[in-house]
Amino acid sequence: MKKQQFDAALHRELTETLHSGGIEDAELEAKWILEDIPDAERAREIARRRTQHEPLQYLLGTWEFYGLPLLVGEGVLIPRADTETLVDAVLQRTAHIQSPQIVDLCTGTGCIALALKSQRPDADVTGIDISRKALSYAEPNALRLHLDVRFRCGDVTDPAVCGQFRGLDVITCNPPYLTAEDMAHLQPEVTHEPSLALAGGADGLDFYRVLTRLWRDSLRAGGLLAYEIGCTQAKAVAAILSENGFTGIGTVRDLNGMDRVVLGYQAE
Ligand code: GLN
Repeated sequence: MKKQQFDAALHRELTETLHSGGIEDAELEAKWILEDIPDAERAREIARRRTQHEPLQYLLGTWEFYGLPLLVGEGVLIPRADTETLVDAVLQRTAHIQSPQIVDLCTGTGCIALALKSQRPDADVTGIDISRKALSYAEPNALRLHLDVRFRCGDVTDPAVCGQFRGLDVITCNPPYLTAEDMAHLQPEVTHEPSLALAGGADGLDFYRVLTRLWRDSLRAGGLLAYEIGCTQAKAVAAILSENGFTGIGTVRDLNGMDRVVLGYQAE
């Protein structure tokens, strides 16, 4: 009983710190801090740093994606709930494939690759990222979760990297897709995240153009390519898939009703 009262007082205190520091969901964030950080002084310190608009996820050090607690921090994109739409879309469309061979490009924390492996233990899953820093989160994430996913450091726009993969059943990718305009108006929290994981060129579509052309031949006939997209990019990304000979092209919306995934199949 006493502990509960103490927690409630601390919750009020942290809520007040966050609120007066301009954090919108102060009450909820205070609760999340207390749930993760048992030590009162550390919890206070995190609330103070949060008012400088450091992302809460970096301050806590772990964040949940598809039910998996993932290590996150400086230098890697924070997994978004929207990205679970991509995982669901791929799981639905691959349920009939035995031991699918999956490669996740621009894997970051490994969130997509690890979520897929957690649901499909029979799958052979590789995650690739150009950033060693990102892989310094992805690899421990796999170990901690006992998920047998291979991670490789490589430039996914390099034909030599792509050339090492043939006959894949599935390619997933959440590439950097923000436009130059988006990059000029980032929320303060997002400025803490690596621009390498965010900036997709002037119109945000650079990676879709390059990766679709490069990786289509790494898929087997009938293989699935599934991208996360920015909510205004569905038509343009679908056109890129179409120009590259993909069939059965479709768009999937996220839980907010926004276009979030574009996918298609390598021609049979
Ligand atoms: N979804 C991220 C954002 O809105 C962008 C991630 C990406 O470019 N892949 O900030």
